[in-house]
Amino acid sequence: MALCFFSLNMKKRIIQIGFLIILLIVIYVRISHEKSKPLKETRLALGTFVTIDIQEKNRQNREIIDSVFSIIQIYEKQFSLTYPKSETNRINNSENSILISEDMQDILMISKQISNETEGAFDITVGKIINLYDFANETIPSIEEIDSALVYVGYKKISCIDSELFKDDPTIFIDLGGIAKGFIVDKAVTYLKQKGITQAVINAGGDLFVMQNPEKDVWKVGIQHPRNPSALFGSVEVRDIAVVTSGDYEQFFMKDGKRIHHIIDPQTGFPSYNSISVTVIAPNTTIADALCTALFVMGPEKAIKLVNHKDDIEALIVFENNGELCYVFSNNFDKYNFTLIDSTAQFRKDIQ
Ligand code: ADP
Ligand code: MG
Repeated sequence: MALCFFSLNMKKRIIQIGFLIILLIVIYVRISHEKSKPLKETRLALGTFVTIDIQEKNRQNREIIDSVFSIIQIYEKQFSLTYPKSETNRINNSENSILISEDMQDILMISKQISNETEGAFDITVGKIINLYDFANETIPSIEEIDSALVYVGYKKISCIDSELFKDDPTIFIDLGGIAKGFIVDKAVTYLKQKGITQAVINAGGDLFVMQNPEKDVWKVGIQHPRNPSALFGSVEVRDIAVVTSGDYEQFFMKDGKRIHHIIDPQTGFPSYNSISVTVIAPNTTIADALCTALFVMGPEKAIKLVNHKDDIEALIVFENNGELCYVFSNNFDKYNFTLIDSTAQFRKDIQ
């Protein structure tokens, strides 16, 4: 009897252990399945929404995304004007010369290259003027204030020799808002590639880098409509490339019927009205970002002329003419299968 009772207990135990093992296997399979899922995450960074979308199934996706956001935050603290101790603010508070980091040397070198190519349409010393516009309180500077600040604007007023930056005048003030986002996206892409990721998209509020698409050859990327926040202007099909859009709708307020926005013509100190939105497609996000801001200021004719001389860069310029929405694009822009969504927009062939 006792023996029989003991073996019944044993059976129960074996069944319980069996269930436990099955349960553990189910949990393990679920966890490992979860861990190897594609992962997409959006966080607030760089003054906008940043999305990292890793499409491939990778067990380290969570770790990688966290690291990418940490990298973004480190660079934001280095370049942004909002952090009092940022390297940019140290430069702005310095006297005539200061030692700078390698990343700062790189970003300043690319800035200068784009300034030279665009005859100063891109100019980080425009920071002196941008400071005069108060977007939060919707106030604009007087002509006198602009004129006295313009004295300190000019990309040739700063120069670098190795790790030393020289300012012609201590009051010169740089603002990397037109290039830093692209530079940081490129750093994030480099990190993803180092981690073996080949199928991902990074979108930092309109500064996009798309890698490969796991399902199709290309990604279809929507281009924001500059006058309708809930609509697209068009779309392109791309892979392994940066797609950057800058527009006068990103940061603006209306004053006496005029749109006061954040892309400034360094020649005049006023917002530029030559374009309303520019999209650049290029292999490098840093260059695409800076060039986008510059092309905006240059306006459609000059912008298209410049881009048509570059083999690996294409651009779409949207502008207004007598109240009509017009657009033009560079010679090979169509290789990205551009599809116009706003059919009311006029294609200006004459400008090409
Ligand atoms: P975003 O994508 O954030 O809208 P953009 O790439 O369009 O930014 O650049 C706009 C920012 O660049 C402004 O907020 C300002 O910091 C800076 N900026 C404005 N005008 C110029 C200019 N002509 N050259 C260089 N930087 C500029
Ligand atoms: Mg830019």
